[in-house]
Amino acid sequence: MKNVNSKEVSVLVSGPFNEPFDYVLEDKNTNLSIGQIVLVPFGKRKIVGIIIGDGTKTIPETKLKTVLQVYDLEPIPKPSIELMNFLASWYCVFKGLVLKMILSPIEAITSPDFEKVYESNFLNKNEIKEIDKIKITKKRKLVLDFLLNLDIGKSQNDIIKQTGVSKAILKDMTKKKLVQEKKVYKTLNLDSHFLKNSKENKKNYDFLNLEQKFAVDRINDSIIKTKSDCFLLDGVPGSGKTETYFETVRTCLDQGRQSLILLPEIVLTPDWEKRFFQKFSFAPLVWNSEITKKKKKKIWLSALNGTAGVIVGARSALMIPISNLGLIIVDEEHEQAFKQEENIRYNARDMAIYRSSRSSAPIVLASATPSLETFQNAKSGKYIHLTLPKRATGATLPHIKLIDLSTHPAGKGKWLSPLLVCKIESKLNNKEQSLLFLNRRGYAPLSICNSCGDKIKCVNCDTWLVEHRSKNILVCHHCGYSRTFENVCKKCGVEGQIKACGPGVERIEEEIKETFPQARLIVLSSDTMNNHKILNQTVEKIKNNKVDIVIGTQMIAKGHDFPNLKLVGIVDSDVGLSGGDLRASERTFQVLQQVSGRSGRHSKKEEDKGVVLIQTYDSKNPIINAIAKNNRNEFFDKELKSRQHANMPPYGRLASIILSSRLERKLETFSTELLKVAPFFKNVKIFGPAPAPIYFLRGRFRRRFLIKSDKNVNIQDVILNWTRKINTPNHIKLTIDIDPFSFM
Ligand code: ADP
Ligand code: ZN
Repeated sequence: MKNVNSKEVSVLVSGPFNEPFDYVLEDKNTNLSIGQIVLVPFGKRKIVGIIIGDGTKTIPETKLKTVLQVYDLEPIPKPSIELMNFLASWYCVFKGLVLKMILSPIEAITSPDFEKVYESNFLNKNEIKEIDKIKITKKRKLVLDFLLNLDIGKSQNDIIKQTGVSKAILKDMTKKKLVQEKKVYKTLNLDSHFLKNSKENKKNYDFLNLEQKFAVDRINDSIIKTKSDCFLLDGVPGSGKTETYFETVRTCLDQGRQSLILLPEIVLTPDWEKRFFQKFSFAPLVWNSEITKKKKKKIWLSALNGTAGVIVGARSALMIPISNLGLIIVDEEHEQAFKQEENIRYNARDMAIYRSSRSSAPIVLASATPSLETFQNAKSGKYIHLTLPKRATGATLPHIKLIDLSTHPAGKGKWLSPLLVCKIESKLNNKEQSLLFLNRRGYAPLSICNSCGDKIKCVNCDTWLVEHRSKNILVCHHCGYSRTFENVCKKCGVEGQIKACGPGVERIEEEIKETFPQARLIVLSSDTMNNHKILNQTVEKIKNNKVDIVIGTQMIAKGHDFPNLKLVGIVDSDVGLSGGDLRASERTFQVLQQVSGRSGRHSKKEEDKGVVLIQTYDSKNPIINAIAKNNRNEFFDKELKSRQHANMPPYGRLASIILSSRLERKLETFSTELLKVAPFFKNVKIFGPAPAPIYFLRGRFRRRFLIKSDKNVNIQDVILNWTRKINTPNHIKLTIDIDPFSFM
């Protein structure tokens, strides 16, 4: 990395700033690189920042403040700095705030954990000889030989374990200056994370089928040649995508480089970790919302100094400054979870592609149902399209059938058609498992008072409260507000008339309990499975056949492999289609296809084939039919045509501006003022300010603009020039959302 040459340096601090500030270095700090992490005075505070270049010389040196501390750490790697710059300009956010995400957890820098290590005081083996009458005994030689084989210091424990000498001997050797004691940052043990085991490698590779091998070879070639190619690894659920990218991770390790695997949080299960461990005999470094700060500090430091071999995490893992990155995997790349919707609104998948392009590391996007953007990029040749067309276990694809609810309706107050119930019964008799999918948490999505017709709403939001009968509460799924369910209408005061409308998973559970009282049931939703431990135990239970019927939300849609699951029933395929937003049909298709993929994953014989039954009132719907016919590409092509026709992404560009305030009137006035200064360009269309679909959220009123443009327009510039024309009052929050996913 480029060095800075002057005593004055330009420092970007972590905070809401785009521009760096100049500081002066103390004499002892010479030869620093760009990316070096420093502590600087800032007003009355001290802030951590990074050096991004020489000082600007616009302020006399005597007036500059001095850098307080240069941390003894590797500089933030260049690709991470480039990512910071790009992300900030793409999503119209402050560079300094992106830097804050990169330098997180900040305690890794400001209060790291240290450990003592020992290094040999001899440079090489030939030099080991008696000095000043200090004998090199056999035991001392053992320690020195061990240390000289490594290029990093070793902890006392490691040395004792490896050489069998006692603590006292090591202590004595330190005193006699044969070895040197050093304090270093606590990071990971290098050896266990870079393994070389070519015999094992060959065995794993040979296990793959032809298509998998082709994909591995192609990706390996880019890893070895350090080409930042972008691959789409496209294969039906169970086609062996995970197995395939594991082999490329192995290659990356063999090259002595680091891998980053991004997974949506819900896919990142202990199950996945276990599978990784079985393949590699070491645990990957897991980065998600559940790990402790202590662990995060260690992983962050190990990523920066290059000792972390494989990091697997949810979207925020992309921000870890991995210094020697050789490969990025984005599994389930179509998942909405990669888009962060709060604070800094960014899409980790898109930014991962950018990160790869700056790191001479290829990126692999894996999915059974790629997003339309990705599919289009693969079709046009921008991405390299690798396909795995069949199930890797040799299992047949499931048999998919529609149940028309208008001709085969469920009984009164019930939600499952007799056709579906009958199939569940036959699976029960065969001792096979069934899965009922409904993407609605709780008991009922809506409660109405039968007496006055009032629909029970949240106090903070414009949304209906969802009844959770198991806990006897009503909950808002948007802000988390909850209250005890009482069967008294707050509006008209009539008692006992509150009626549940529509089904949630709890209601399906109730129906199954009534119909099949002996069946062993489990409900899988974020309410029942609120941590990884519980989820893991449940998944094990299902795998070990301790459950007959699983009822689940989209949490169950992916990742899991249940060998004895032979029937998937989709309770309501029409949910989601009516949402009306840009990606509603794409998303419905993805979820339904993912869920269908759970059925009969290991069935090899025709008569043993997995079955999928889809309940619908809309049997002519093209999406539902595309799923029934298993014709993904036909659906994608149709959907792409309609997007092209409407100049929507991936053909045109979209952005939103969300304005929110506690003061309704003033929000309205400001929105109108903003509209008055809206720019006028031929290829940019501005819609709004419309009340947001969720007009009232967490106590704030909300209005939205939607900006639509041709692909070649710099939509960020248009929006920034526009919104800077007038001052945004303090009570208003103005959020820019580039490439929005949510239109609520
Ligand atoms: P995906 O990620 O596409 O859903 P996985 O990699 O999880 O697929 O593989 C699905 C199942 O098939 C797993 O049980 C896996 O061990 C098995 N599998 C993968 N590749 C092969 C192969 N070449 N031969 C036999 N089984 C395989
Ligand atoms: Zn609410």
